Parts: sequence; C-alpha cells; structure tokens
Amino acid sequence: MAVQEGDILVSVCKHLYGWGAHRKSEIQSAFDMISGATCIRFKKHTTEMNYIMIMAGLGCASYIGSQGGRQPLFFAQKCSVGNLCHELIHALGLHHEHTRKDRNDFIDILWQNIVPGKEKNFKVNEGDTQNLMYDKDSIMHYGQYYFSKNGLPTLESKSSGGKMGQRSHLSQLDQMRLNKLYKCGTEHGAFNHLHHVRLTSQSDRRCFYFSLPGERQ
Ligand SMILES: [Zn+2]
Repeated sequence: MAVQEGDILVSVCKHLYGWGAHRKSEIQSAFDMISGATCIRFKKHTTEMNYIMIMAGLGCASYIGSQGGRQPLFFAQKCSVGNLCHELIHALGLHHEHTRKDRNDFIDILWQNIVPGKEKNFKVNEGDTQNLMYDKDSIMHYGQYYFSKNGLPTLESKSSGGKMGQRSHLSQLDQMRLNKLYKCGTEHGAFNHLHHVRLTSQSDRRCFYFSLPGERQ
C-alpha cells in the first residue's frame, strides 16, 4: 500500500461500531462541502469493487488516491467535519498543499520544532498542482503549529498575512483543483454520465462510493 497520510496517528482499526445520527450527519456535511463546490458526488456503496469505508479509530487519516478494493478512511471522535473533508480530499487524490514542489517559495519549514518522527509530513511530494497557484488558504494546508514539539511554529509564511490551516471550507483554489482533476464542467465530467467509480487522480469518474461499518458492503 502507498504511504499513509499521517496527519494524526492511527491505531489498528478495531472500533467497528455503528454510527449515531449525529456522526452520520457530520459525515454528510463533509460530503456536502465537496459536492457543493465540485461535480463529485458521494453514493452509498453497494457492489462496487473500489470504495471508501469510513471507520472510527484514533485519528483522522486517509490514503492518497485509490488503493483499490475497500479502502479505510479514519474519522475519530476528535475529528471535525473539516478534518473529515480534508481526509476525503486525500482519498480523491490530493496531497498536502504545503508539500508541493514550489512550497519553499512561499513558506519556511522550521524542522527544529517538529516532533521527532513526524518530519515525513513536511517532505516535498510529487503531487499534481494542476498548474494552479500555491494556496495557503487550502483545506489541504497545515497550520503553523502542526506537529510542533515545543509550541513554536513548524511552518512560517514568507509573506506577511495569509492564515494557514483552515478546516472550515474548500478555498477557491481547492475547488478549482478538484474540478480540474475530475474534469468537472467538461463533456466527460458531465454528471449525467454515472460511471462506476475509481478513486484515482487519473480518473474522470466522479461518483465516489462509501460505506460505514455495519452497513451493507
Ligand atoms: Zn492530511
């Protein structure tokens, strides 16, 4: 399997309990954050080969892109709707914004303040930027103090202003990035073509299947 996302440590998944109405409505809210801004739609899983299973656990974490088959995505009690939205976007294929190849033009990484062992979360990735601008407002950007071992910043903006690490909405550029990746608004992205899903950054198939433990799989 590919590298795990690693926002927050995840334990072995053994918390296979049912989801209460409140958590289900939070999950729906996270779906709505994405669907409201893109042509990506979330459908209940029935018989599709590849799908996401949202699981409780000790953290919020996801694989990046499709791994094939049943793919876990972790949504612990402490994770907010915005955290879940962030993880879903990883599953849709996006890396962290602050790990883009051009990030050193916009931010500094303060390696000396990072919790030992978490440096990998700050390494540059080869993610596809879709030729869009660097975006500190991205829901995929870390905040200034993520994984700090000493209360000091781990990220610093090179320019003044520009808060980082929001988890409340998809930024304009987040929306553009997903819409480009999933070819929204194009002939292949037209929503009347309901394809069988593949959760891959190469895909123009935008229906995204999911299930919860205890539901039909
Ligand atoms: Zn993440």
